[in-house]
Amino acid sequence: MNTTTSPRIAVVGAGIVGTSIALALRKRGADVVLIDRDEPGHGCSFGNSGAVSPASVAPLAMPGVLASVPGMLLDGESPLHLPLRYLPHALPWLMRFVASARPSAVDAAGKKLHEHHAGALEAHEAMTRELGVPELFLRRGHLHLYPDASALSKDAGGWRMREAYGFQVERLDRAGIEALEPNVSARYRVGMYLADHATILNPFRYVQAMAQAFAARGGRIERGQVNALAHEGGSWRLRAEGAADGLECDHVVVAAGAWSRELLGPLGVHLALETQRGYHLQFLGARDLVSRTVVLADKKVFVTPMEEGLRVGGTVEIGGLHAPPDARRAAVLGRIARETFTGLDGVPTRTWMGHRPCMPDSVPVVGAAAGHHGLWLATGHGHLGLTDSLNTAQRIASALLGEPAPASPQAHALAGA
Ligand SMILES: Cc1cc2nc3c(=O)[nH]c(=O)nc-3n(C[C@H](O)[C@H](O)[C@H](O)COP(=O)(O)OP(=O)(O)OC[C@H]3O[C@@H](n4cnc5c(N)ncnc54)[C@H](O)[C@@H]3O)c2cc1C
Repeated sequence: MNTTTSPRIAVVGAGIVGTSIALALRKRGADVVLIDRDEPGHGCSFGNSGAVSPASVAPLAMPGVLASVPGMLLDGESPLHLPLRYLPHALPWLMRFVASARPSAVDAAGKKLHEHHAGALEAHEAMTRELGVPELFLRRGHLHLYPDASALSKDAGGWRMREAYGFQVERLDRAGIEALEPNVSARYRVGMYLADHATILNPFRYVQAMAQAFAARGGRIERGQVNALAHEGGSWRLRAEGAADGLECDHVVVAAGAWSRELLGPLGVHLALETQRGYHLQFLGARDLVSRTVVLADKKVFVTPMEEGLRVGGTVEIGGLHAPPDARRAAVLGRIARETFTGLDGVPTRTWMGHRPCMPDSVPVVGAAAGHHGLWLATGHGHLGLTDSLNTAQRIASALLGEPAPASPQAHALAGA
């Protein structure tokens, strides 16, 4: 074990979570290596919808969601897709997901999510300024849209939770929607507006800017697949491809997103982590069709005016880590976008699929791995990894370096999962 005041730390995974952690640790003077098999920001953090959503306190497993799952599974165009071949693999996780929809579990998850999201808007605004990319931070609110009051009522539980935690929500009629977003189809007649929410207008460029700031402060970035972690003689040793092979350090932070389970399993740390694959269809242009994050809530689709054009993101596909992308999922997003906005015909598009790292109760796993000195976990951020990345980084950096820190959101998972 290194006894100097500057511990040697390896962070595995250079997504938004790992890169934020590496930067937070380096700013406190730690000796940090950030390792990824790819360039920073090429995992799930590459193509998300950029929403900074602290009001998302309702977990995915809500009683209303469960009631609609069977119908969604039978509908090939629904926002939720579970290929039959993957059902046996997904079953244990699905059972935990169902258990997480109990009212007491929903309340507990909401409390943890609320605590973990606190200050996220201010933190991202400050970080974009610090990185010299303030243009990436757009604070113009999030507008959630429903065709009518009956569609809104399906999400009533989630809106009640937001309001109970003190978030200001303005209900809009069609005229109110048009005043904010005149290009949205007349199909949408009810809006729920979170005026203070924000959007990162290029999530990939954000991670890149963070990685550059980390390197500029003397942090090392190594490219290579990490195959195993071993605790030997009081230190951690990495088995990896490339320069990180044999690397010895005092602490390892596993921030490998949806792949964290594979890396941790051989150490006896079994997380209930499953991937929910999501897609985006990026129109290379037409970004002016909306001026803020617009959520087509009945379709579970986010529409965002990204730097490179209009991004349409969504879909939950419980299909594992290894299957190729399903082009039909992205095509559905394209069709929904063209039905909702005119002016998209002929605009070239690009599609992308990413692996969200999801816990059954939607609460990320952030903190020390019980019984494994020097092993830290930062994964399971699900649908909110961009939102929570900076708070996770502060928690890990404070706890690892022995500073006082707020409680970790998913401490129970570390001990019991
Ligand atoms: C369609 C979609 C829309 C989304 N929209 C939003 C949104 O609006 N707001 C929000 O807050 N969140 C959103 N999310 C969720 C968010 O993108 C994720 O929660 C977040 O990107 C997870 O970050 P991460 O760093 O944990 O994982 P990743 O970005 O996947 O990073 C993990 C990294 O680990 C590396 N890695 C894995 N295993 C190894 C190994 N063994 N050796 C070396 N490297 C390894 C991978 O290469 C990867 O770079 C969305 C997700 C999707 C799919």
